[in-house]
Amino acid sequence: MVLLKVYLHICLLAFLMKTRRERIIELLERTEHPMTVQDLAEWLDIKNRSMLYEDLEHVAKSVQAQGKELLMRPASCGKCGYVFRHRNTPKKPTKCPKCHSQWILLPGYVIRVKE
Ligand SMILES: [Zn+2]
Repeated sequence: MVLLKVYLHICLLAFLMKTRRERIIELLERTEHPMTVQDLAEWLDIKNRSMLYEDLEHVAKSVQAQGKELLMRPASCGKCGYVFRHRNTPKKPTKCPKCHSQWILLPGYVIRVKE
């Protein structure tokens, strides 16, 4: 009985995770303008943003299998305009390498069909 409970709990967790990632994919496919993690957090009513960055990494992989890609508008420095181009992870940079400002504009995301 305890085992069954644990099993059901795991299933429920898997279900919730799946739907959250599916909703992210849906939002990013439909949006016209790139959405930031802050936008996603508001739409999905999620407070834990690091969870969303993790989701985005998974989403990037899973849409690839469908012939789509997660496009990222890179983060930029709000002070000097430096653009963080060469980043492989969707995580937000913390400091501008040029002017050392910590005013970083968040990266934005969209999902588009690969051409
Ligand atoms: Zn800067």
